[in-house]
Amino acid sequence: MSKRTWTSECLVLSLRNFGEANRSATLLLPENENGCQIVQATLYGGPKISDFKVKEFRSSIRDNLTRIWCASLASELAVKLEGNIDWNLINYFLTGISRSDENQCRLALMRFLWRVIIFSGLAPELNSCAYCDEGIRLNNDLNNSSRAGKSYFYLPTENAAVLCSACTQKNESGFKLSEEACLYLYATQYLEPKISRDMPISEGSYSELKQFLFYLIQNTVNKVKAISFLFNSKHRQ
Ligand SMILES: [Zn+2]
Repeated sequence: MSKRTWTSECLVLSLRNFGEANRSATLLLPENENGCQIVQATLYGGPKISDFKVKEFRSSIRDNLTRIWCASLASELAVKLEGNIDWNLINYFLTGISRSDENQCRLALMRFLWRVIIFSGLAPELNSCAYCDEGIRLNNDLNNSSRAGKSYFYLPTENAAVLCSACTQKNESGFKLSEEACLYLYATQYLEPKISRDMPISEGSYSELKQFLFYLIQNTVNKVKAISFLFNSKHRQ
């Protein structure tokens, strides 16, 4: 096979029509354990895809607005993170939401965002308070945690420190995370996927997680872009 021709598995992130009978595709290709590669390709013309075989279509994503929103967000993130995303993570997420109801999709998105942040290496340490070292003491029984009644806070500072209620000034601005929200993130990060998937969560904790994770993911995108810019400008010198 010539070097100009190669074959790869890929995830189609978006398709666009342009010109007559031309379609441009944004593709995500698995690369290595550090992430994927984004490729802008053309179907039927120019630098082109000469053949393809569809392995999984996930057509039910289009049946529901919440699924479409979740899938669009995942696709946009893969592009904005310039492929710095785990191949299996994004594929399992898309397959999962294609079979889930709206409520399950909303929670799956929270777990997905947290895992993307962890994969980027930019996740704050949530296991204990940065000042007093009070930590999450979990057994396998998540309903019987010894931290009942304590709230944890994430503070958007340079150090991205997480503090317990006792160490937080009342007027300090930041993201409040309830015990339940902390446990959810902990379970997503350290326990087998089934455990966090089956954990019930209140509307209040969902709302906290959403604000916290959307803030963090935006930060992650900005940092990845900044690192990429620095790396590329060094290479241009
Ligand atoms: Zn503390």
